[in-house]
Amino acid sequence: MVQRLGTLALFGGTFDPVHNGHLRMALELTEQLQLDDMRLMPSHRPPHKNTLGCNSEDRAAMVELATADCPQLSIDRREMERDAPSYMVDTLTEVRREVGPDVSLILAMGMDSLVNLDSWYRWRELTDFAHLLVVARPGWHLPEQGDLADFLRQHQASVDKLYSSPQGSVVIQQMSLLPISATEIRRQISAGESPQFLLPDSVWAYIQRKQLYRLPTE
Ligand code: ATP
Repeated sequence: MVQRLGTLALFGGTFDPVHNGHLRMALELTEQLQLDDMRLMPSHRPPHKNTLGCNSEDRAAMVELATADCPQLSIDRREMERDAPSYMVDTLTEVRREVGPDVSLILAMGMDSLVNLDSWYRWRELTDFAHLLVVARPGWHLPEQGDLADFLRQHQASVDKLYSSPQGSVVIQQMSLLPISATEIRRQISAGESPQFLLPDSVWAYIQRKQLYRLPTE
């Protein structure tokens, strides 16, 4: 019988702020795929976003609050501790070194992140260290042409790969996602509207206490 590997999943993002769309996706993935460990990993200096609504300490504090009462989810602060652009390939290299070769390392992301993957630094090397687990809404389309399409054709595999090999595959998991976006939450707050019920109460209370997102960022 083939041994089932232990699984560590990282869900990276700016989480500016973290919201129920992120949290439900992380929890549903954890339960559907029976992942051993699921960590939300806020990006300190995201190379792709130059306008952030608030600083990385506040973003991490909100992820900490959001995950505090959920035993299946936790925060990974490693990108906060590196005072350099948060390149995912560097992060995965570091995590792989820490966990050794026999753990299945999984980078979770939404389809909107996957379609821009070929703009990430050394993106082809990501699968040297981890699997990519892409969550797609029903009716999703994969890129069909270009380098990314070729890469996907070479790496796409079924979900069993997550348990039988430590890295190397792209797995697409279909799931209905809550239609919530951090951009819309920031817009609401700067317009004086309430985002209550789109994010945990503890996060909304933090935003109000620290008076975050009062000014329009984009
Ligand atoms: P922004 O609106 O600022 O771009 P966002 O809400 O898309 O933010 P990010 O922090 O940029 O959030 O995204 C982190 C990850 O969460 C990405 O992989 C993205 O695909 C995924 N994601 C974003 N919104 C949702 C949602 N509603 N449900 C599930 N996953 C989501």
